[in-house]
Amino acid sequence: MSDASLDPGLDPDWDDFRRWGAKIAGDLADHYAGLRDGPAWRPLPAHKKAQFYGQPVPREGLGFEAAYAEARELIVPHMQGNVHPRHWGWVAGSGAPMGVLGEFLGAGLNPNCTGSNHAATYTELQTLGWLKELLDFPAEATGLLVSGASIANLLGLACARHRAAAHHDSDWDLRQTGVYGGPRLMIYGSAEAHSCIQRSAEIFGLGRDSFRRIGTDAHYRMDLEALKRAIAEDRAQGHVPAAVVCTVGTVNTGATDPVEAIADLCQAENIWMHVDGAFGALAWLDPRRRPTLKGLQRADSLAFDCHKWLYIPYDIGCVFVRDPDVHYETFGVTPPYLSATRQGLSDSPFFFGNYGLDLSRPFRAMKLWMALKANGADAFARSIARNIDQGAYLAGLVEAHPKLRLGAEAPLNVVCFRYLAPGLDPAAEDALNRDLLEQLQASGRATPSMTLLDGRFHLRCAITNHRSRDEDFDILVDEVVRIGDRLLAQRA
Ligand SMILES: *Cc1c(COP(=O)(O)O)cnc(C)c1O
Repeated sequence: MSDASLDPGLDPDWDDFRRWGAKIAGDLADHYAGLRDGPAWRPLPAHKKAQFYGQPVPREGLGFEAAYAEARELIVPHMQGNVHPRHWGWVAGSGAPMGVLGEFLGAGLNPNCTGSNHAATYTELQTLGWLKELLDFPAEATGLLVSGASIANLLGLACARHRAAAHHDSDWDLRQTGVYGGPRLMIYGSAEAHSCIQRSAEIFGLGRDSFRRIGTDAHYRMDLEALKRAIAEDRAQGHVPAAVVCTVGTVNTGATDPVEAIADLCQAENIWMHVDGAFGALAWLDPRRRPTLKGLQRADSLAFDCHKWLYIPYDIGCVFVRDPDVHYETFGVTPPYLSATRQGLSDSPFFFGNYGLDLSRPFRAMKLWMALKANGADAFARSIARNIDQGAYLAGLVEAHPKLRLGAEAPLNVVCFRYLAPGLDPAAEDALNRDLLEQLQASGRATPSMTLLDGRFHLRCAITNHRSRDEDFDILVDEVVRIGDRLLAQRA
């Protein structure tokens, strides 16, 4: 048999590859350039879904052109819409194009970033260094890029759990005996902490009863006195406080727990301070926000996302752990087949595989490196500051409008509000606002999401979008009032 007949055909003709790559780049450029004139969301119609969903695996290849034509027809137009200037649902990143190109490059190079001796490892170490510099986090902290803040939070809290056990009793090796080797470990966070913290407590085998949700003040910030009481109660019961989760930028309202006071308390009580700064930590790049965030750098571990408020394409989150030894002791394990050598490819400058859960890891750093190099960090800082201004701008529009009401103060970039329906009881007003949101999304004019504040339905905008302009918020408010008026008239 000749070599040619053994060729699986996975590598294309390289001139074709060149053309196809340029074709995708060109189509994406058209897509970005036309965003503002198109809808923020275009639902996937049933007839299109039927054409590509639930299909058998293609055994014979169609070739790139036919496959791409199908993708352009059926998939490309029906995305989430978070790259659109008027998407503010959940906490979505808008995806900086330099990061898109970096992702393409990184995927093409396809190194395994577990930490062996090649430039991708240094690229990740370099970008981690830049992130520490931008956040003024201690340079000696270890860190790694992960899939998102859910995992970053889990890794930081795993370090906290490990350290709390070892510190409680030097014979308690949590990795050997698990949580059965000592008293109950407790984690504290506010009632507004993200749901992933609860899930970490569950996965750790602590159970979510061991994650104590502390009440908040009128500004949705953790109540420090209540936290102190909970810690004292738990100590009196013989439990071991393992970590306090300080949320910097809550999902619901963008509130920031009292960072400095929590840092002081954790220091005095010798408890691990973990910061969930998924998007809010990036507000450090706006000097106006620094007084509120002061103390962030005292965290024992910090979790945040680059795919939200640093606008890097999904997925990319980051965790920093202040004490490299605790970080290593929590995760390190080296079977013979992963041992380092003194020279060669296995002469690892930093074995990321020993600092988290993933062994094989993608080249996430490439897109971050490219975006920071090509655009410069200051461009990202300006966009963050602008989003903060837009949060205030939208809150101002809502406050000035007699038919709208803010659900909570909007200290950062998250704005919750509802349409007021005079004459309707609260349940009917909530139902109207739910219909309003659904119709607004279906119209494609703007795509906020929702949340409940004090049990009441609110439209919710989290502004982590480098494409939004002030006029986009005028459009939003006009549209909300227009749909609200129509729904109210129908109910009258
Ligand atoms: C988004 C978010 C998370 C989870 O991050 P993912 O990147 O979605 O995994 C955790 N905490 C807060 C405050 C968030 O906003």
